[in-house]
Amino acid sequence: MGGVRVVVVGAGVVGFSTAVCIAENLPHVSVTLLGEKFSPETTSDGAAGILFAHHNPDVPVEQQRRWFKSSFDHLRLIAQSEDAPEAGVMLSSGWQIFRDVPEDKTPYWSDLVLGFRIMTEREMVRFPEHRFGQAFTTIKCECSRYLPWLEKRFRRAGGQVEQRRVDNLQDLSGSFDVIVNCSGLGSRSLAADVSVQPVRGQVLKMEAPWLQHFIWDGDGLTYIFPGIQGVTIGGTRQGGDWNLQVEENDTRGILKRCSSLEPSLTRARILSSWVGLRPDRRTPRVEVEREVEVKKGGRSVTVVHNYGHGGIGVSLAWGTAMEALGLVKKSLQGNKAKL
Ligand code: FAD
Repeated sequence: MGGVRVVVVGAGVVGFSTAVCIAENLPHVSVTLLGEKFSPETTSDGAAGILFAHHNPDVPVEQQRRWFKSSFDHLRLIAQSEDAPEAGVMLSSGWQIFRDVPEDKTPYWSDLVLGFRIMTEREMVRFPEHRFGQAFTTIKCECSRYLPWLEKRFRRAGGQVEQRRVDNLQDLSGSFDVIVNCSGLGSRSLAADVSVQPVRGQVLKMEAPWLQHFIWDGDGLTYIFPGIQGVTIGGTRQGGDWNLQVEENDTRGILKRCSSLEPSLTRARILSSWVGLRPDRRTPRVEVEREVEVKKGGRSVTVVHNYGHGGIGVSLAWGTAMEALGLVKKSLQGNKAKL
């Protein structure tokens, strides 16, 4: 495949995962990653980074399982290797609790995490307002460490990195044979896809080393995730809100809700506050844009999209990256002249 050039746009967890998958699996292809913002300034950097899934009725369950399993297994190997502290990846055990018994007591991902079980009555005693709970071990992936680690891995595989904004994908067609778009919320303009919407999330980092288990309310709004550097507590989900400022009101609400689940948090110091915008879409878009191949000077360049992961981008990044790799391979095989 000598001479074939692939560019990945986006330096968040989806972009770097995709770039690493391509560079490591197609060693004869030259891979460049372009991004406007890099760690620590991407949305991925502030994510709580807990691996979880929720049922998306618009994506086949088998595909959701594949994406999640691939990410979980990949990160579990890192968590159990000597790279764990540098990569910021750890196993994390705890509880997801519900005020009402959910319809699906053993969700599709229950056999993909470790040790999933329904909580006992004795365990539920400490959550008097909740009637049902699930205990399991998952993974916490702290992207402020994971992204620099992935970048190193990418460079080791021969990848090149450049910090710059791309105004439209056509501009890249003169220099590359395949364009992979992992620009998250940037896809509103780069892919002309206004169905990608911001969902604002605010979180706080607390100094509370005595907390070792995650607690996650099934309402999706309230969570306590102990990590390597502090305990992330949250959160908010404000659809269509572009405000990147930390709001005092949100801070108060988060502290109140989280302290009602874990009273010792009232004694913890706030280390930092952060706001990020989830790149929300009805479904993540992982596909080749066949009809609208980028054309310039008579050349036709394939665009592979991989964006729109909403609130579970860290949980799905490796899985969708492997799928994007498959699409890149297919596109290169389809163009024999370049092989
Ligand atoms: P980003 O990290 O936003 O990266 C996009 C990249 O594209 C950036 O480098 C950007 O500069 C680049 N880009 C955009 N436009 C252009 C352009 N025109 N030219 C060049 N580059 C461009 N997920 C989980 O799985 N678990 C969690 O516990 C979790 N917690 C979260 C908590 C909060 C408060 C928030 C806000 C999100 C959370 N998420 C979580 C979701 C997760 O953060 C996102 O799904 C994920 O970060 C999306 O990654 P991405 O790479 O697509 O986007």
